[in-house]
Amino acid sequence: MSRSIPRYCTVTRRSSKRDSAASVRPCWPGILWSLLLCLAHVATTFAHEDAATLLARADELKTSHPAEFADLLDVLRARHAELAPAERHYLEFLLGWRAGYTGHYDTALAGLRAVIAQTDDFDLRFRARAAVVNLLSLSRRYDPLFEELEQLLADLPHVTTPAARRQGLAVLGVVYNQMAQYELGLRYADQLLAENPDGRFGCIARQLRIEALYETDRLTAGSQVLADGMAACHAAGERLYAGLIAADAARLLRAAGRLEEAIALLERSYAAARGTGYARLLAELDALLAEAHWENGNVQAAHKFAGRALRDGVQNHFTEPTITAYRLLYRIARERGDVAAALEYHERYAAADKGWLDDVSARELAYARVRHQAEATRLELAALNQQNDLLKLERENARLYIVLLCVCSGFLALWGYRIKRSQLHFMRLARIDSLTGIASRPHFLDLAAQALDDARRRGQEVCIVLCDLDHFKAINDRFGHATGDYVLKQVVQSCGRHLRRGEIFGRFGGEEFGIVLPDCGPYQARERCEQLRVAIAEVAADPGSMVSAVSASFGIAASATSGYELRQLLAHADAALYLAKDAGRNRVMLYTPALVTPGHENSDPTTRPDGMPACRTG
Ligand code: GH3
Ligand code: MG
Ligand code: MG
Repeated sequence: MSRSIPRYCTVTRRSSKRDSAASVRPCWPGILWSLLLCLAHVATTFAHEDAATLLARADELKTSHPAEFADLLDVLRARHAELAPAERHYLEFLLGWRAGYTGHYDTALAGLRAVIAQTDDFDLRFRARAAVVNLLSLSRRYDPLFEELEQLLADLPHVTTPAARRQGLAVLGVVYNQMAQYELGLRYADQLLAENPDGRFGCIARQLRIEALYETDRLTAGSQVLADGMAACHAAGERLYAGLIAADAARLLRAAGRLEEAIALLERSYAAARGTGYARLLAELDALLAEAHWENGNVQAAHKFAGRALRDGVQNHFTEPTITAYRLLYRIARERGDVAAALEYHERYAAADKGWLDDVSARELAYARVRHQAEATRLELAALNQQNDLLKLERENARLYIVLLCVCSGFLALWGYRIKRSQLHFMRLARIDSLTGIASRPHFLDLAAQALDDARRRGQEVCIVLCDLDHFKAINDRFGHATGDYVLKQVVQSCGRHLRRGEIFGRFGGEEFGIVLPDCGPYQARERCEQLRVAIAEVAADPGSMVSAVSASFGIAASATSGYELRQLLAHADAALYLAKDAGRNRVMLYTPALVTPGHENSDPTTRPDGMPACRTG
């Protein structure tokens, strides 16, 4: 404060200077006006800088110098209009904090909650919430306390400024100690101490540790930790926390029967604690002094301090010092024989004790409820996780089924594909003559039947030709079967060169061939067969040929004479072929009814099992 107030005064002096400047030079209004504007700008800039500094300074002095803190807040409040929005929120936070410190819990809570609702600053919101949690704990509003506490715990890891984190850890230590959850209180105190070994928060952390250790009977009257704690708090100028530690140290001394030492320590701390104005601490020291004096036989002093504990303590709440004070006053009155006063104090003592116990059980009930809820949430989460795992497993299974299905489908598809391929292979084998590569007999007959149907539908002429190589047996006999095969292939190749698109060429078996000539009349067919006959004869003339002579005989049946029935056409072509052979071979004969003696056709003894006539054998 000794630094902050003069700074604020400097600003005031700047403003005064500006006013005096305005009165010194009234003759140059234009220049002066500009100068005024300039000064106003500078003044505003400094005012803003100072406002930020003042706010930070006030924050620092909160507990160590409460009076200066209050003065600074008054100064800042007076300049509320000048402050930037963020500075206003900061000021409102400090005002709320002070209202809570002075016991005006409702005002404090309203102000701090407004900061939480309005500020965009995450850390300031966190600090305001930490203060709310502290106040709710002090004012014993347990249900909202646990709600806010949950949020505070969730926000703590996201806090960025050390000030906010320190405050959060300190409030958690305070609140858990207050809730008699000393292990948790100790944990946050240790954390706070580890992060802030010195200064104000080093002192607060030590006090919280001592409180938790004292309440769990882990301290004795001479514990070094007590002396260290008080020394740290004195060094930091934190009389309040030094007083709280002194109270615990005095309790331990009293319990050890060292009453004089306890009284001496309490009296030393008392003067410093007065300056803090903190009701809870004052009442505690008063009550402790009253008890110690009572036990030491100083009834008058005990009466004085018990009265002070009631006068200076937290009002409208049942606290331990209130109970102690009423109990002592009752005992003193009884000892003095003042029955009426004794009765009255006893009634008040009983009421305070009951109120305190009610509060303790309300606190424990609230804590148990929250723990129960937390446990229920944990179980619910565990059940959800289990459900989730189950769903994951089901999804995994479904994926496995899909993979299995895909593998099976793939396998089936492959299997189907292979079957289809072998079907096609066999179909091809059945349709194609393996030696010559032209249509096999059954395939030729199918194609020929289709071609005849088409021709009939279109009203076109069509001819069927049967061709048989002459004396082929002799070629086989003379040159061997392999040469016979070679000649067959050469004949097919040679004829193929003269056949046109749409014309059907098939091997009937052995050295016999069939040809369908669509859209072709008998005389044209004769010419085409002549060409083929010449082509076959040329096979022997080929320089690489091993045979000296190859010839063939042809029989033609035309639709104009024989109709479109395949059986009929084949029979007539065969009859014509027979005649060609008969006439000396190596020639083409066209079927006409006049050529064939009645009964010759269809009486062929070599008719095949499928009913189709075969070419004759010789
Ligand atoms: P023709 O002029 O009267 O038709 O006399 P040809 O010798 O041609 O008639 P024949 O029916 O007596 O003989 C046909 C011969 O064709 C009998 C057989 O050895 C031969 N032959 C049948 N199929 C094949 C074959 O795939 N390869 C070979 N090299 N010869 C075959
Ligand atoms: Mg033959
Ligand atoms: Mg033959």
